[in-house]
Amino acid sequence: MNILFAASEIFPYAKSGGLADVAHALPDALREVKHNVYTIMPLYSMIDRAKYNIVPSGLSFEYWLYGVRHQFDIFHRADVPEDIFVYNPIICDRIGLYHDAYGEFGDNGLRFGLFSYAVLEVMIRMKLKIDVIHINDWQSALVALLAKTRYVLDTKVVLTIHNLAYQGVFTKELMYELEIDWEECFKFDGLEYYDNVNFLKAGISYSDVVTTVSKTYANEIQTPLFGYGLDEVLRINSHKLVGIVNGISTDIFDSKKDKDLYKNFSTKRYKGKNDNKLALCEAFGLADGNRPLFIFIGRFTSQKGVDLLLEGLHLFKDFEANFFILGSGEDYYNHRFETMAHTYDNIHIEVGYDEALSHKLYASADFLLMPSTFEPCGLNQMIAMRYGTMPIVAKTGGLHDTVVDFTDVGNIETCPKGVGVTFSEHNLYWMLHAMAKALSLYGNYDKFKAISKHNMLVDNSWKHSASEYIELYKG
Ligand code: ADP
Repeated sequence: MNILFAASEIFPYAKSGGLADVAHALPDALREVKHNVYTIMPLYSMIDRAKYNIVPSGLSFEYWLYGVRHQFDIFHRADVPEDIFVYNPIICDRIGLYHDAYGEFGDNGLRFGLFSYAVLEVMIRMKLKIDVIHINDWQSALVALLAKTRYVLDTKVVLTIHNLAYQGVFTKELMYELEIDWEECFKFDGLEYYDNVNFLKAGISYSDVVTTVSKTYANEIQTPLFGYGLDEVLRINSHKLVGIVNGISTDIFDSKKDKDLYKNFSTKRYKGKNDNKLALCEAFGLADGNRPLFIFIGRFTSQKGVDLLLEGLHLFKDFEANFFILGSGEDYYNHRFETMAHTYDNIHIEVGYDEALSHKLYASADFLLMPSTFEPCGLNQMIAMRYGTMPIVAKTGGLHDTVVDFTDVGNIETCPKGVGVTFSEHNLYWMLHAMAKALSLYGNYDKFKAISKHNMLVDNSWKHSASEYIELYKG
């Protein structure tokens, strides 16, 4: 099949979260089984064109909207021409993807509306014979509305919701700038949302299929608690809503050959995992490196449960364990964590985004803390397991679907899923309870090691999920 995969961020070119990982790994997995996948994303100014061999494709065009001329220059990778990039100054000439230190860019609606136009124009002008357009999150969701109303295409459109909390809501006057038909589209089963426009709602309304990134999250978002104001729309559209759990790239996350680690290791050379922990603790001045090591990696936002970490820090200091927290996000949390960074000698806090350090942490740790308030899928828990690190997770969304509590597992050898510790009530008491359970398991090191090795071999690759997407594309 021919698939056009549109996303606002794709690893390694630009990444702010899990969307970029998925937008890299899913097309790769589809290409591996001989599908023809084009990816398309904005060519942001911070992308290193030389490093990735990104060159002009020869296609440039202008597109007039509401009396304004918009110029688009199309690039691609010289070595992988199916990786397509859109350059337009309004979309691309920014220092961040969606925001800077002062907040969201005020013209994000126009930016990603233009990107959505560009996706369809590229498909048509390059004469790509596309069977399915796969769009992702609000930033490319308008493609569905434009494809069905303005371009009147019969190409199948599949929307994946990676996080319902982000919807792209803008004032309705944007419809003039983007020349969206009021009569046809400004309605409840279109993009109207409390007298504003909502790009994600447009995607849900006009796509043929809507997917989200785990089965549990697909159910959760149809309830008011997780629905972020769109639960009714999702219930109405439940006939076309499907949950498919994400995978992880087993090439990028491979303890045997990962160049970012202090030492490579495997289930057979398992001692190397402990060598990573000792080296990390020494490098960052953590107390006795032989202690169990808990880590947290993620965006500092309430979704990731960082309030529980802040609440718990003064208790963690008394654990016979080390802690390493790596993350960045909202100013409030950055500031809180920065002020605590040098307080306790068994807790190291690093405020920032550091891909290589994250790999070292996944490899070195014994336990990954993931106390998310909600989690559409979550990649960290799967990455951690691939490196033998046991996840301690709140039982929600994709965490519920990918991690089983070790006390619920009879025979570890026949368990098809990853094994960790789960907790259902989202508060400090139950998180500490889960951590205490984890430490008592660690006390029985042979059992802990058996689970850790089991997790390293669990198949969380894209193989199964990619074939589920193929079935959907065909269906
Ligand atoms: P999100 O909600 O942020 O998309 P996911 O669990 O889906 O969460 O994906 C998060 C991805 O980003 C993982 O690959 C994780 O390792 C990475 N990541 C998050 N924060 C950081 C950080 N501060 N430094 C390095 N990698 C990070």
